[in-house]
Amino acid sequence: MEQVLLLRYSEIHLKGANRGYFERTLMHNIKYWLKDEQFMLQHIPGRYVVSGYPIERENEIIDKLTKVFGLHTLTPAVCLETSPEAIIAECEKIRLDGKFRVTVNRASKIFPIHAIDFAGQLGGVILKNNPDAEVDLTNPQTNVLVDIRENGYTYIGTRVILCHGGMPVSTAGKGLLLLSGGIDSPVAGYSMAKRGMTVSALHFHSFPYTSELAKQKVIDLATKLTNFLGDVDLYFISFTKVQEAIHRNCNNNYMITIMRRIMMRLAERLSKDIGAGAIITGESLGQVASQTLESITSSSAVVDIPVFRPLISFDKVDIIDVARKIDTFDLSSLPYEDCCTVFLPKNPIIKPKLENVAREEAKLDIDALVDEAYSTLTKMTIKLQK
Ligand code: ATP
Ligand code: MG
Repeated sequence: MEQVLLLRYSEIHLKGANRGYFERTLMHNIKYWLKDEQFMLQHIPGRYVVSGYPIERENEIIDKLTKVFGLHTLTPAVCLETSPEAIIAECEKIRLDGKFRVTVNRASKIFPIHAIDFAGQLGGVILKNNPDAEVDLTNPQTNVLVDIRENGYTYIGTRVILCHGGMPVSTAGKGLLLLSGGIDSPVAGYSMAKRGMTVSALHFHSFPYTSELAKQKVIDLATKLTNFLGDVDLYFISFTKVQEAIHRNCNNNYMITIMRRIMMRLAERLSKDIGAGAIITGESLGQVASQTLESITSSSAVVDIPVFRPLISFDKVDIIDVARKIDTFDLSSLPYEDCCTVFLPKNPIIKPKLENVAREEAKLDIDALVDEAYSTLTKMTIKLQK
């Protein structure tokens, strides 16, 4: 008998022929997320089992596992060799009060007793030993889970801990996240990694108009995101000369519109160089002037690569909820200025017309500006935190 963690995954079940690929990737990711722990990992049909860990590390291990995309729920459980007698003996030890039920999952069809009958029998055993307990099948405080698996072992636990779900990171290609210091873009990166993307990040800074603290904030945000994304390649490009050139030469109301388009061109170039197949942004329709349908059309128009905007339909409060859940909200709320706020126009164009944007952009040598900005590219790799 051993204390283990029983891990369940969900959507991978839907995969047909390449299900094995998803399962192997998930196994690889679980090992990587627990790389600093002592443990064993076993894949049994329909489940993973983590065992052999020091019990005092259990909470930390659970915390890390909940952040491995692809896992749906997990249960701390006792593992025993399957036999009705051994399961009954284990249920004899359970102490609880209040409303409870027993749920038997008979994945092993050679187990001789039907699930519902056996659940009733085990419920009787628990009732006998716990005078303050009563059975409630619909609204129990405690659900005693008895998972009889095909591998000859049964797992018994009473807690179901929700993980973040999604698909295993690195099963859905690579995306380049435009990471500002704000609330939205970290949530956008989390959202696409949740669908299985490997996410690299790009930040535009306007040093010396923006400070070292603003840059550090982005590094800290990317570090936080490693909890879900795994290792993150974080790129920086200096946007100062671009902004100065727009400021000098163009109608200032087009500042943000043109900045966005140049950011997109730079992001596309970097994507091609690092093998990313999509750009990811934290835009949400109508949130600010630069996120109207017309503004989004104008920034997408300059690139030949999909732009994923996973928050497009989110209200700010919904984005904040996720930011709190992934613990980026407090960092994002620190006040350091972003490059977009440095040259903020008083009356930004809300519905830019493409021909007007093109007229303003014609006042710039876009190719030279993009080349020059791209030459400032630097990279750091942030490893998944301990
Ligand atoms: P956020 O909270 O993500 O900063 P926001 O509401 O402030 O979003 P904008 O400033 O309009 O929105 O930016 C929209 C998107 O453009 C951001 O979500 C991000 O993906 C990208 N972006 C903005 N500024 C930068 C920057 N300095 N570096 C990289 N990407 C940026
Ligand atoms: Mg921003």
